[in-house]
Amino acid sequence: MLKGKVAVVTGSTSGIGLGIARVLAAEGADLMLNGFGEAAAIEKLRQEIAKAHGVRVAYSPADLSKAAETTRMIEQATRELGRVDVLVNNAGIQHVSPVHQFPVEKWDAIIAINLTAVFLAIRASLPQMLERNWGRIINIASVHGLVASMDKSAYVASKHGVVGLTKGVALETATTGITCNAICPGWVLTPLVQKQIDALAEKEKLSPEDAKIRLLGEKQPSLEFTTPEQLGALAAFLCSDGAAQLNGVALPVDGGWTAR
Ligand code: NAD
Repeated sequence: MLKGKVAVVTGSTSGIGLGIARVLAAEGADLMLNGFGEAAAIEKLRQEIAKAHGVRVAYSPADLSKAAETTRMIEQATRELGRVDVLVNNAGIQHVSPVHQFPVEKWDAIIAINLTAVFLAIRASLPQMLERNWGRIINIASVHGLVASMDKSAYVASKHGVVGLTKGVALETATTGITCNAICPGWVLTPLVQKQIDALAEKEKLSPEDAKIRLLGEKQPSLEFTTPEQLGALAAFLCSDGAAQLNGVALPVDGGWTAR
């Protein structure tokens, strides 16, 4: 479905971004990977995805907390792969702390990576999408773009911001062949969430398994984690012709979390 198209997936060296990158490559898209990690492991991943799906895979080490690097990532993708048709803004970080004790530098980093980088990557790639009158912008927000949880003020603010930005971009591009949507996952078992499970296990003196069950039980009625593969399948659908009129929405994939 995506043969001849180029997808940039930010934060795709791990977790959800990697899951989405694999599905888009399986659909035939050439890929720009981005994110942190050990150079040799990233190179292995790059070659593995390229070989498995017969697509070109490039890598950008851009640190998305830095505005110039975010813009350069899109320039690099255009230079090395020829174009950017699909932009998946996925890179994100979390910090958990009551608002009155929230470290200011953590607030700044979360807003920079989770929200400002999304704006900058869209700003840098939209002109060429408009030129070709086709594009798919998929922002990985969160259920925390729709509802709040305690001790996550910066994350909740950034993800609500992403949902708002998604709607704004969707309106501005509504009469074109470009769509902009947000995916709002509930709990997905990735390193970002594993840290929260470990903290809960330590605080409540729980086994790792019991901490997982407690975490899910508090929020996610399905009592199952959403998987990166499921989010990849949704991203692929959003790239399809069937989703051409699906624009400006925030889609929860949360096992019923936001139905309560
Ligand atoms: P993760 O920690 O497994 O992966 C995050 C990715 O972002 C990694 O590739 C990392 O290298 C990259 N990254 C972090 N800081 C970066 C920076 N400054 N510049 C470039 N890349 C950077 O996390 P994840 O759980 O896969 O999260 C991915 C996205 O999904 C995030 O936006 C997160 O908020 C969102 N999300 C996650 C969950 C969940 O339960 N895991 C739920 C809802 C939303």
